[in-house]
Amino acid sequence: MWKAAVDCDHKYDGEFFYAVKTTGIFCRPSCKSKTPNYENICFFPNAEEARKEGFRPCKRCRPDLLENTYDPHLEIIEDTKKYLQENYASNITIAQLAMHVGVSQYYLSRTFKEKTGYTPQMYLSTLRIQKAQELLVTTKENSTEICFQVGYQNFSSFYKQFKKICGCSPRCFRTEKGRKGN
Ligand SMILES: [Zn+2]
Repeated sequence: MWKAAVDCDHKYDGEFFYAVKTTGIFCRPSCKSKTPNYENICFFPNAEEARKEGFRPCKRCRPDLLENTYDPHLEIIEDTKKYLQENYASNITIAQLAMHVGVSQYYLSRTFKEKTGYTPQMYLSTLRIQKAQELLVTTKENSTEICFQVGYQNFSSFYKQFKKICGCSPRCFRTEKGRKGN
């Protein structure tokens, strides 16, 4: 553990923490702050134990954020997906979405793209088109009705997205699927 702390070894982050008696601070093994003297150091299996002994989390490596392997980004992604899944059929704006999640539009789009590879808008389009595909196959409603049901405000953007994601028009998709079904 001492070696990991001296080497600032990332592999041990979350495995244990070290605390420095002279400063009252505890750190992740990877912390880049100055290596303390060996006689002033003690080790803890988790952040909670270190806190119980009166140590405070280091402001630089934030060992407290490793508790329960908490990743604030994942929560943003999960909240965004959940909100879009529940509200795809209404006229959602990214501003509303960001307000619901509790971050700025810019931060939301950037984080979502970074973690998933696509923007919230792309995720929303995919949800809507998947739903449209389902309705085309399972109902007799025409594509205009379906377009509004899945949350599009005008037919041309629905049509464009549908073609982009499915590679064919809604009508063609229905005919193809209908034929395969028979
Ligand atoms: Zn630290």
